[in-house]
Amino acid sequence: MKLLYTFACILFLSNSICAQDFSDKITLVIHGGAGTITRANMTAEQEKAYRSVLNNALQQGYKVLQGGGTSLKAVEAAIMVMEDSPLFNAGKGAVFTNEGKNELDASVMDGSNLKAGAIAGVTTIKNPIRAAIAVMDKSPHVMMTGKGADLFAKEQGLEIVDPSYFYTEARYKALLKAKESEKVELDHTEHPKKDFKDKPKTGYNDNDLIFTEGKKFGTVGCVSLDKFGNLAAGTSTGGMTNKRYGRVGDAPIIGAGTYANNATCAVSATGHGEYFIRSVVAYDISALMEYKGLSLQNAADEVVMKKLVTIGGEGGIIALDRNGNIAMPFNSEGMYRGYIRGNGDSQIMIYKDEARK
Ligand code: ASP
Repeated sequence: MKLLYTFACILFLSNSICAQDFSDKITLVIHGGAGTITRANMTAEQEKAYRSVLNNALQQGYKVLQGGGTSLKAVEAAIMVMEDSPLFNAGKGAVFTNEGKNELDASVMDGSNLKAGAIAGVTTIKNPIRAAIAVMDKSPHVMMTGKGADLFAKEQGLEIVDPSYFYTEARYKALLKAKESEKVELDHTEHPKKDFKDKPKTGYNDNDLIFTEGKKFGTVGCVSLDKFGNLAAGTSTGGMTNKRYGRVGDAPIIGAGTYANNATCAVSATGHGEYFIRSVVAYDISALMEYKGLSLQNAADEVVMKKLVTIGGEGGIIALDRNGNIAMPFNSEGMYRGYIRGNGDSQIMIYKDEARK
């Protein structure tokens, strides 16, 4: 009988009748950034607050999936919760540039049709992830930057805020600290390391980019599998503290910080963006699955725990495939992360020693 059904599907019936039902596989995975996140760096209240927002993001995204919504809508819902929280480096609570501004990056990708949208360097869009989706859905483009992207979001009716909305004291203090350490850096120029000999005064090295509350990347991201079997990925960030000259990180770069393809996986990254761009992290994981037949976990480990480590790229990723397999490797001390599945199974993790159930 089953054979007959399959045969009929192949020969006569339309896609919709034969379409596989993924209802029992719906899954949502999120991250809230990676970095030096240890128990020693965190108070009990801070930990509780982070876990609570992460849980809320999972619940909001899951509600969409459970109600029969698409992965894209679920990604949007989960990321908006984290963008609206000052705890994460995305939307409200974004880090500051060297000039004392907040410049936001975000991207999204639909694994069912390989459509994608991204914005970079925006300053007035309350929820950058919504602008990335609008670029994908409402424009012929994939990426918009700066003033143009801000204007486009306004024209699309998205919520626009005064740039001061993004200010938080903690992030501003982190900028001041970063600038201080830069001075320290200049103090050392009397005994420059050989490779810094010709370093221009206005240049900076990796150490000039620091992260709040110790060394941390607070970007947020989400990958999702809906009941239609479609994957989607999204990432949103304020970038890195003390970034300069219109710097854009990996988060809005399709293939680096975000990628989704139903044939392989959905990926969202967090970490030192320059390294993630150079390693084309998200697409590389997908490509290892597509061309080499690696499993999701093996592909993710290969890129995050080997390739990135070799070049000194700190951070991690979350990834999901069409069978509901999850991978969340990171090579830093910790990564805010969590997942929720169709069967209600859910877990939130922060530290390295927290294993997945
Ligand atoms: N990847 C982001 C960037 O480089 C930073 C982060 O993950 O927090 O802009």
